Amino acid sequence: RANLTADAEKIRTVCSYCGVGCNLEVSVKNNKIQSIEAPEDAAVNAGHTCLKGRYAWRFYDHPDRLTTPLIRKDGELQPASWQETYQYLADRLQAIKTTHGSDAIAGISSARCTNEENYLLQKMIRVIIGTNNIDCCARVCHSPTAYGMQHSFGTGAATNSIEDLKHTNFIMLIGANPTAAHPVTGAKIKQKVMKGTPLIVIDPVKTELARYANWHIQLRPGTNVAVLNMMAYFIIEAGLVEQAFIDNRTEAYQEYKQAIMALDINELANIAGVDAQVVKAAALAYAKADNAMSFHGLGVTEHSQGSRAIMSIADLVMLTGNIGRPGVGMNPLRGQNNVQGAADMGCQPHQGAGYFPVNIEENHQYYQEHYQSELPKEIGYKIPEMFNAAIAGDLKALWILGEDVVQTDPNQNHVIKALSNLELLVVQEIFLSETAKMADVVLPGSSFLEKSGTFTNGERRIQKVNAVVTPKDGCKTDGQIIVEMMNALGYPQAEYHPKTMLEEISQVVPFFAGVTWDNLGEDGLQWPVNANGIDTKILHTENFKRGLGKFHFYPFEESVEVTQNGEQFPFILTTSRNLEHYNAGTMTRRTGNEEIVSEDILLINPNDAKAKKISDQQSVRLFSARGEITLKAQLSDKVNKGILFTTFHFPELMINRVTGDVTDAETKCPEYKVVSVDIEAA
Ligand code: SF4
Repeated sequence: RANLTADAEKIRTVCSYCGVGCNLEVSVKNNKIQSIEAPEDAAVNAGHTCLKGRYAWRFYDHPDRLTTPLIRKDGELQPASWQETYQYLADRLQAIKTTHGSDAIAGISSARCTNEENYLLQKMIRVIIGTNNIDCCARVCHSPTAYGMQHSFGTGAATNSIEDLKHTNFIMLIGANPTAAHPVTGAKIKQKVMKGTPLIVIDPVKTELARYANWHIQLRPGTNVAVLNMMAYFIIEAGLVEQAFIDNRTEAYQEYKQAIMALDINELANIAGVDAQVVKAAALAYAKADNAMSFHGLGVTEHSQGSRAIMSIADLVMLTGNIGRPGVGMNPLRGQNNVQGAADMGCQPHQGAGYFPVNIEENHQYYQEHYQSELPKEIGYKIPEMFNAAIAGDLKALWILGEDVVQTDPNQNHVIKALSNLELLVVQEIFLSETAKMADVVLPGSSFLEKSGTFTNGERRIQKVNAVVTPKDGCKTDGQIIVEMMNALGYPQAEYHPKTMLEEISQVVPFFAGVTWDNLGEDGLQWPVNANGIDTKILHTENFKRGLGKFHFYPFEESVEVTQNGEQFPFILTTSRNLEHYNAGTMTRRTGNEEIVSEDILLINPNDAKAKKISDQQSVRLFSARGEITLKAQLSDKVNKGILFTTFHFPELMINRVTGDVTDAETKCPEYKVVSVDIEAA
């Protein structure tokens, strides 16, 4: 490596996998990447990366990269010039808009792409197409976090910074496996716990951090609200609430307290399959800690009670006054590098850039003035609604930027049926993903190593992404593609440049007010950034964004998936990531990581395996009300009896053939974490 990087140029950029947002120092010689290292002085990762970031450069130059636009002719995707492709798309989109109206067109944006690219796509859909049918992958991961925290605190983002781990003396981790999914943050938590900081893990799976936890509450998937309500009960019963904080800074406490204290704790413990005394010990320790930080992941959000569980965590945070200072707070571990940014930039059907609801007259005027254009006022389709509308024949065209919905969205047969029913499917991608294979038009975009802009990580940190090589021959940056498409549709959008795009964004998004390309520096800025360029490490220090923090009580409700399908399909399948791979695996299966982990494996409790006559490493048939797959079983006590676990990184498996249509009541985030299934030896 020393020889390779000796006279190489070193360029700093940001990893495009998880929401930790590690800084990477890339060595480049003659437009070829030699290696990736971690800068010691990076605020986020201080010399660390995981293997995903360290070897990320291998996928950008992979022979599978798409290098020319493709248009489907005579049933086959065939190469076309950029000029021909833009003209074809402009004609088709105009024709659909004229015949069926603007709402027959929709867009799905990408957490892999920069803030500027996300901003541009929602602008194209809203201003030029004329619909609010724009959404992003936050819909299928942390939309309940945004909804719940907005209702409790007023802002749907992490309240503190990861560096606050230095100041905390208690950690509560709910529905997250950060040593696999957010490895650099996971390592920081592990180091802290190994030095003696108490840890609660609430998770149906015995994760790596569960092994280090003082209390592992191994609940049945889907029962977070039951356990969180139990914790609140024990804290209130013991008189450990932070009464002055509750009196001065919150509302609706009395109603909440009354509802919590009326609960039947033994019944909830039975529902969740947990020991009430363990929950009590954990709850009291959390309440007694001077400074307690909570972290949560998709094990909280991807449930039919996802938003309600988020508000229940917020209740615990407010009960104990653990908010508004260093070393405390409620911190969602955002799954994707720029999912925070995609939502911030308005890639949501109900809120525009900066989170103003689009259907309120005052906001509608605000956006119309900024864009100098007539805008739609009706809330658009969320992603699951887009698929339903396509099947119903109401949605005719869908533009997907860097998302593989066929592999990653639930109930794959339903998704395929929806995409097949469209008149026009456009996919902007770097590889021919399972979704791109179905497209009518494929546009070859660029990876993070070939583009400049900004990503916003899970602690609201806006960081510069710097192109380290030029786009591969035949490819364009995604920002440039969208700008050229906007112009082809007759809108005079200026040429893509991150600096000028940031200027435009800072005029629309109030919490970007003082963000400029030049003042972001090496370590970035955490929003809100005021007009003087001063950023914010901790939210809600004096007041909540909504004024007073609000308590919400929700009783536990069994998932419809279990009540409808549980008898016929008695096992509960829950899914997550492993360390080596990232989501659909489109990138990590092309970096050498596929040689370390080459398939998705099903974990099954040895008692269940014995009852089903399944041996270790045997192929099993896994089936649900939606479909079936075959995969290899591994006997493991990481899961309790009746629970199965697997990952979703390999298209050969397609776990989403078995997942279902149940969604979070408030946001329509799919319930990936509770899937009623059955198994048998294959
Ligand atoms: Fe850091 Fe996450 Fe990238 Fe790993 S995947 S290097 S933890 S940002």
